[in-house]
Amino acid sequence: MKIGVLGLQGAVREHIKHIEKAGHEGITIKHVEQLDEIDGLVLPGGESTTMRRLMDLYGFTEALRNSSLPMYGTCAGLILLAKEVVGQESHLNKLDVVVERNSFGRQVDSFEQDLDVKGIEEAVNAVFIRAPHIQSAHEGVEVLSKVEDRIVAVRQNQYLGISFHPELTEDYKIMAYFIEEIVKQYQTEQV
Ligand code: GLN
Repeated sequence: MKIGVLGLQGAVREHIKHIEKAGHEGITIKHVEQLDEIDGLVLPGGESTTMRRLMDLYGFTEALRNSSLPMYGTCAGLILLAKEVVGQESHLNKLDVVVERNSFGRQVDSFEQDLDVKGIEEAVNAVFIRAPHIQSAHEGVEVLSKVEDRIVAVRQNQYLGISFHPELTEDYKIMAYFIEEIVKQYQTEQV
């Protein structure tokens, strides 16, 4: 399959490597026309305010709001996918969750932890960097993982959102899950 990574800002190359490790073709997406060539899109971590501006500027906001392409957002990417972001406007409105930015507090700015994620057999190595968390998930959203009582991974139909950065580790299980479970299921349903 061909999986794109939105290449405007953030951890792009790392995701491309994970797509390749999972046995698929990774494409850096810089123009909206390229969206027609791919089976799924990764929205990487980075800085969500910067990413929003660039997405508006290059036409991605409108194109992706109107698209049903499977999408997987990590960290800043999760913020972009959420229907509600505490204290600011939402962007792509795909995941019916409320997200709070930078919400693990200053004293635990960044941390690493092995996590159980529903649908994935072994523990996932997760790196959190000024991570958002999901305050609440509405009906139709499946909670895949939590850190203490905070939701850090969700799926709703063809959309996957996680608070952390698997692409900064060697662990590509979440990428494989996105492609093998979510994108494939979506394609089966389209036939
Ligand atoms: N704190 C960033 C934001 O709110 C997200 C952090 C990240 O993607 N590592 O956009």
